[in-house]
Amino acid sequence: MDRIVTEDGFDFSFNPLACIECGGECCVGESGYIWVKYGEIRTIAEFLNLSVDEFSMRYLKRVNGRYSLKEIEFERRNYACIFFDTVSRRCQIYQVRPIQCQRYPFWEILKNRREEVKKECPGVI
Ligand code: SF4
Repeated sequence: MDRIVTEDGFDFSFNPLACIECGGECCVGESGYIWVKYGEIRTIAEFLNLSVDEFSMRYLKRVNGRYSLKEIEFERRNYACIFFDTVSRRCQIYQVRPIQCQRYPFWEILKNRREEVKKECPGVI
């Protein structure tokens, strides 16, 4: 967790140490989707000691046949993932966070958008 990460096809690198001080910039902002597949849903539900059904009712929304974690509006037009603690500014399920979160900032949609990603993520170099 302490070395610079690179990925083929991306025009930036990432320093995971930046996450310690960042305060979760990638967990808040404009409304979006935090996609989760069934295996991830089961893992997170287990972590929270909930059944998959109960977890789904509390924390998931269905979008065109897929599932996303819900968001909460915490400032005017600013949204946070439902698992983001806006006081401590930490992910409450960090150990079992979705793959989408683990992969950030190496998302297809962010390829070749270094300057844009840098504004959001202090770990991008
Ligand atoms: S699951 Fe955790 S890391 Fe992923 S968006 Fe929510 S708060 Fe952030």
